[in-house]
Amino acid sequence: ENKDQKFVYDFTEGNKDLKDLLGGKGANLAEMTNLGLPVPPGFTITTEACKVYLESGAEPAALRDEVSAHLDALEKTMGKKLGQADNPLLVSVRSGAKFSMPGMMDTVLNIGLSDGSVVGLAQQAGDERFAWDSYRRLIQMFGKTVLGVDGELFEEALEDAKSAKKVTVDTDLDAADLKKLVKQFKKIVKTEAGRDFPQDPREQMDLAICSVFESWNTDRAKLYRRQERIPGDLGTAVNICSMVFGNLGPDSGTGVAFTRDPASGHQGVYGDYLQNAQGEDVVAGIRNTVPLADLESIDKKSYDQLMQIMETLENHYKDLCDIEFTIERGQLWMLQTRVGKRTAGAAFRIATQLVDQGLIDEAEALQRVNGAQLAQLMFPRFDEKAKTELLGRGIAASPGAAVGKAVFDSYTAVKWSRSGEKVILIRRETNPDDLDGMIAAEGILTSRGGKTSHAAVVARGMGKTCVCGAEELEVDTKRRRMTVNGTVIEEGDVVSIDGSTGKVYRGEVPVVPSPVVEYFEGRMHAGADDADELVQAVHRIMAYADRVRRLRVRANADNAEDALRARRFGAQGIGLCRTEHMFLGERREMVEKLILADTDDEREEALKALLPQQKQDFVELFEAMDGLPVTVRLLDPPLHEFLPDITELSVRVALAEARKDHNENDLRLLQAVHRLHEQNPMLGLRGVRLGLVIPGLFTMQVRAIAEATAQRIEAKGDPRAEIMIPLVGTVQELEIVREEAEQVIAEVQQRTGIELKLALGTMIELPRAALTAGQIAEAAEFFSFGTNDLTQTVWGFSRDDVEASFFTAYLEKGIFGVSPFETIDRDGVGSLVRNAVAAGRATRPDLKLGVCGEHGGDPESVHFFHEVGLDYVSCSPFRIPVARLEAGRAAA
Ligand code: ADP
Ligand code: MG
Ligand code: MG
Repeated sequence: ENKDQKFVYDFTEGNKDLKDLLGGKGANLAEMTNLGLPVPPGFTITTEACKVYLESGAEPAALRDEVSAHLDALEKTMGKKLGQADNPLLVSVRSGAKFSMPGMMDTVLNIGLSDGSVVGLAQQAGDERFAWDSYRRLIQMFGKTVLGVDGELFEEALEDAKSAKKVTVDTDLDAADLKKLVKQFKKIVKTEAGRDFPQDPREQMDLAICSVFESWNTDRAKLYRRQERIPGDLGTAVNICSMVFGNLGPDSGTGVAFTRDPASGHQGVYGDYLQNAQGEDVVAGIRNTVPLADLESIDKKSYDQLMQIMETLENHYKDLCDIEFTIERGQLWMLQTRVGKRTAGAAFRIATQLVDQGLIDEAEALQRVNGAQLAQLMFPRFDEKAKTELLGRGIAASPGAAVGKAVFDSYTAVKWSRSGEKVILIRRETNPDDLDGMIAAEGILTSRGGKTSHAAVVARGMGKTCVCGAEELEVDTKRRRMTVNGTVIEEGDVVSIDGSTGKVYRGEVPVVPSPVVEYFEGRMHAGADDADELVQAVHRIMAYADRVRRLRVRANADNAEDALRARRFGAQGIGLCRTEHMFLGERREMVEKLILADTDDEREEALKALLPQQKQDFVELFEAMDGLPVTVRLLDPPLHEFLPDITELSVRVALAEARKDHNENDLRLLQAVHRLHEQNPMLGLRGVRLGLVIPGLFTMQVRAIAEATAQRIEAKGDPRAEIMIPLVGTVQELEIVREEAEQVIAEVQQRTGIELKLALGTMIELPRAALTAGQIAEAAEFFSFGTNDLTQTVWGFSRDDVEASFFTAYLEKGIFGVSPFETIDRDGVGSLVRNAVAAGRATRPDLKLGVCGEHGGDPESVHFFHEVGLDYVSCSPFRIPVARLEAGRAAA
């Protein structure tokens, strides 16, 4: 605790950039005050004071005096004293952290009212009913949030008072009724909290301040922060704001407003207003609000002023703002503003609208949107026009629109999906035993758990639609059914879940393709008359991003079809073509022959059979990517992946033996399967190791690439193949493969008389490769960071195992905020990448650098790859727009 530290700022002293210190609410109240807008005077206690309180359990020593000084000044300004019997000043004590945490923390209104000052307030306002209404609200709010009394007790007493009088709304209670209610409320406090409601106004204020500090650490707030990835040590500021009253009769009221529609971005009048009400009443839904537009006829002067202020705020913040306001007897007061949340589609539209209004430039527009929003817009969605039956709502954990038959256990999910049924796996919560079912299902729905629950983490990892924590669902796995608000869904009933909104529907909701994907696919043109506004906005933002980005974006694609799609999505090449996919299907038998070969002749023959097939694959691929680089990775996975399953094959052989039906080939196959079986295949015979121990395998692949290249050149094409060696750990491995490859290329060159320029490079996916990148660059013309394997080997994690088994626990304990397979671990894996980049470039300044693997399409990671100076990122075709956008945002 620093002696000179200032813990309290008057609203006139702060500004919108001091959110760390004053919280969002405080910083923006200060900004509005300094803009000359009508904000009730007040002051803000800093987040630093909160941190001291939370660490030491007591307010900082200097705080009390500082608060007193500011309170004195406030009392002078207002010409009233806090809680003074004949002319009371009342204040609100409001929480407000750096990041908004809606409804998570405490606010207490009407501080300063007591048995004495309630009379003064009545005289001041000339309204007795109002004074007692304010007092009962204080006891209710204070009792609940500061003294920890169950809020239901007050609600019940209020209900009883209304029914005793046979009225339905609180405004029908008169002063006498409310006076009685206050008495009851005080009694409730006394019994429940074991103390009297404090009559000393300063004690009320101080207790409320501490309670706001403490509200930072409620379970609710902690859970919310974990889910939203808000750091746990920021603390909240406390705003002391002089009260204005919306509950002074019909010429008073309170409301919320948006400067434009948060769903579409359209400019207009959006909001709700409630006459004769205070604070929370609007959102609590105790009485019916009216649309904000109606305020024009209720109080034209305030309405016009509010419109004027909204325009001022938009021009000042240069963004959509949301607002809380109160009208006290025809006088408008601003109680809060902030840059408002919006839907993904509105984010794009608003960004371009603001450019058109001249409020922001293109670089700023790029910062107003992000890749996660774009990704959201690319998922197929439920048809908005369809008639739906909403069952309930949970947390939108992994986006997409999934439809299927309800199943309540993993076994049934797998069984039904094998027979061609689409299923939605519904569980209370999932655990590692559910993995097979999750893979088999179209989507996953749980009634418990948040964004870091097992279901959410695993579903996101698999790219599968998931809604979790839908608490209204009562899932009964034993009886294979769930009940939602009285509706029963039995096993086999169709449900639809929306992983982007968290909504759960009964029956099949029709799914429509995303217009944004239609646009990227070239089926909708941004310039067309009927192109929707969203598509036009995306088109413009993508153009800004492409104009400024330095990173190039390539695709991971293994065949011509994917390559063409990737091109349409804006790929500037292929960063990873996995050749193992060319060894499957009918060709598996040829690979078996290769593996079983006992003699050189047998092996040669097997390779000879594979060569033309491989070559044809490459011809097609190079044609699809004509003029753009195509990085072909030589065979990577362990060989046993191409052989039959060990158990199945053993059974087959045993059965045949029993029948005395001797099958020579199966026997040899079984021997090979045994021979190639590995405990840890991921760390076994794979990648460059295969090329070194199976003579002719890599050279066959190189020959196929070289011949395909020659053929394309002959056809006047422009093939640009790059040959990539996987899983290299030391430069010696690379040197041997390289020498053989160069020989093959020279041969093809000579035979065809065509000059072949084929770059040879390596993946950097083992720690040793990263650590010796300087040496490896001697033999490599390019590096492609394989961050999936690098993450596995740096952490010692087997991805297939850990995500389902203990990542949830790690995320919940905060060991990491997000899976390192989702977003690159900057400190660990990232630092290896950074060093390898430097060492590689030191050896070979023109070394080309890229990344392939999931991280290439992850927003956060793209920014990292931009920072460390890679030349390109490569990702699945579908992620390309996201990568382009984020590469633009990183550079803008
Ligand atoms: P939250 O962060 O949950 O919105 P707030 O601190 O903004 O909490 O306050 C809760 C409600 O009380 C809001 O509707 C707000 O406008 C209202 N309110 C807060 N302070 C005052 C005040 N000084 N006078 C009148 N209404 C207030
Ligand atoms: Mg508020
Ligand atoms: Mg790899």
